[in-house]
Amino acid sequence: GSARAAAISSVVNYKAGSAQGFAEEDTGELFNSSVFSKAEMKKRLPKDVFKTLTKTIEAGQKLDCSTADVVAAAMKDWALDNGATHYAHVFYPLTGLTAEKHDSFLSPDGEGAAIAEFSGTQLIQGEPDGSSFPSGGIRVTFEARGYTIWDVTSPAYLLENANGSTLCIPTAFVSWSGEALDKKTPVLRSMQALNKQAQRILKLFGHDDGALVSSTAGPEQEYFLIDRHFYFSRPDLLTAGRTLFGAKPPKGQEFDDHYFGAIPDRVLAFMLEAERELFKLGIPVKTRHNEVAPGQYEIAPMYESANVAADHQQLTMTMLKKVAEKYGMACLMHEKPFAGVNGSGKHVNWSMGSSSQGNLLDPGDTPHANAQFLLICAAVIRAVHKYQGLLRSVVASASNDHRLGANEAPPAIISIFLGDQLTDVFEQIKSGGAKSSLPKGQLTVGADVLPALAKDAGDRNRTSPFAFTGNRFEFRAVGSSQSISGPLVAMNTIIAESLDFCASHLEEATGGDPEKLHGELQKLLTNIMNEHGSIVFNGDGYSDQWHSEAEQRGLLNLKTTADALPALQAEEVRELFEKYEVLSKRELESRLETYLEQYCMTIAVESNLTIEMARTLIFPAAVRYQNELAATCANLQALGYEFDTETLDKVTGLVKALQDSVGELESAVTEVASDDYHAEARHCCDVVLPAMSKVRDAADKLEGLVADDLWPLPTYQEMLFIK
Ligand code: ADP
Ligand code: MG
Repeated sequence: GSARAAAISSVVNYKAGSAQGFAEEDTGELFNSSVFSKAEMKKRLPKDVFKTLTKTIEAGQKLDCSTADVVAAAMKDWALDNGATHYAHVFYPLTGLTAEKHDSFLSPDGEGAAIAEFSGTQLIQGEPDGSSFPSGGIRVTFEARGYTIWDVTSPAYLLENANGSTLCIPTAFVSWSGEALDKKTPVLRSMQALNKQAQRILKLFGHDDGALVSSTAGPEQEYFLIDRHFYFSRPDLLTAGRTLFGAKPPKGQEFDDHYFGAIPDRVLAFMLEAERELFKLGIPVKTRHNEVAPGQYEIAPMYESANVAADHQQLTMTMLKKVAEKYGMACLMHEKPFAGVNGSGKHVNWSMGSSSQGNLLDPGDTPHANAQFLLICAAVIRAVHKYQGLLRSVVASASNDHRLGANEAPPAIISIFLGDQLTDVFEQIKSGGAKSSLPKGQLTVGADVLPALAKDAGDRNRTSPFAFTGNRFEFRAVGSSQSISGPLVAMNTIIAESLDFCASHLEEATGGDPEKLHGELQKLLTNIMNEHGSIVFNGDGYSDQWHSEAEQRGLLNLKTTADALPALQAEEVRELFEKYEVLSKRELESRLETYLEQYCMTIAVESNLTIEMARTLIFPAAVRYQNELAATCANLQALGYEFDTETLDKVTGLVKALQDSVGELESAVTEVASDDYHAEARHCCDVVLPAMSKVRDAADKLEGLVADDLWPLPTYQEMLFIK
């Protein structure tokens, strides 16, 4: 316990430096100050180039070479003016992390000096050594080349480091044959698909002004903060991101005094600085009150175009970790760092809108807008019902398995929460709009005013994985460590498909006659609700009763990642992604393989770590204590005293249980030797994880018995409550 004692004393003696908050700056000037923003471009680019670039950005097209050269030169000047020495193509591999390839601006000029160089080609395209990133077999070594291509819709920015700063260019990462190797490419493709179908719906309602419809996202990030000394004295936190051992603290979250409680000074200082850094990067965040668990917090930005939101979310995670370090803390993004304590999620708020039509999921207050809103809402209901398996699979990971369905997070069953009011409207639509019992009489789409929906603030249904929250949907099953790209791709694409279905149906049924629209719409909505309404559930998603009811409704309940990932193989999922040109069959297969592999790898790391920690940390502590007790017993008995061996017996029993379970885990781990990732994932889920639990069970019981000064690992109590 000496490392542990040292950790505690370091925490207790921690002196916070002064925080760099907002006080000394004007927030207006701070915002976007590290971004090559539109304003900066306007200042630095010739008028015609600026215009071309803006158009390209708005249409999401590729930049031509001569424009790229001018933009690159201006970007380089801006970066050098602001202390940059390097530039980096930033990309988003399938690991869900952010990767960077750094290059110096300086090139030798052949005369012993160096000149700052950065051409349009260097801006637009890069070639990182991509062979070390997972590609699920798409890129075998002989064709190991991958290219990064500037995503003009996501602005470049400067990231400061100890020696200056780096110009960061957000890019898509593709193989030489143009196949997506990353998380960004399909987001861009799915946004295009959604725009195309949304335009058809808008046209039906006479809104064909051509303004681009973008999906929008606002992700709420939950995380834990603990002191770094604790972090470094826990090999499991350090390597696996979560504690593989640890008895439940005597004081847990049951007191609820953490939620909305006072934020400790050090944490507050951290929050202010993180906010400030994110503001500079153009990320409009607002940090939050304490979350449910002790040591848990949340940060959420204002929503942005989905693609930019996804990049900004990655940057937010990076920045939170970096700033936490500066304040002597570790920021834990894992979905379940501490067993028995609330886990962390990432609610992805999703909607779509255009500059001229605004938010398309805003119910509005005219019947006309209502009809359009109801159609889009019904399209979402249909999409979520039809593609439940896909939505479940995009939030599947080894770490999120510890959270979903754990009575603190949405269940693994996908359903939609609509709220009472909207549910009532759809119930009436379901019965053909002929419900006479309502005071208003028959509710007809487009003729009657939809009652203004109450913005359901305050305490809402927290148990639903997919909830309508007044003017957007909130996908709550997403895990805290996850990239939001997968969920965004799924939402964009399934809703594009649903809008396509609705538009095709209405175009045909009305034959282009706008007079027929509302009648046909009414029929369509009734059909959709009859076929897909079973996905709507407003009750308590944590209850056992919901599990049996969901089964009766025929809804999927894919409990673990091993159950959920194969949903990506479904014929309709493959067709969906192919039809809307979001992912080819090969790209989809490569993803499935990569995610299964990641699942197996995560569990392999955790199980090996469990064995190692049990052997080298917990077993030695337990036998030392056992020896102490045995010695005391022998000594006392030699003197003729009685010694109650209850504790000694328990410890002895548990030491044996620990040894036996470690042995079992070891053989479970060695049985994993299959080329088939599906079989391996099943084995990990069904055999390895339960074997790990058994080891933990014995170890956690020992923690409650072994003398505290002999216990080698910081306890839950220490990590969560000493700040
Ligand atoms: P809470 O869910 O705790 O009530 P907020 O009301 O602050 O949180 O909003 C949560 C998130 O929803 C924010 O990131 C916000 O920007 C986002 N959001 C609001 N409107 C939209 C929209 N139209 N599209 C996407 N996200 C949105
Ligand atoms: Mg929320």
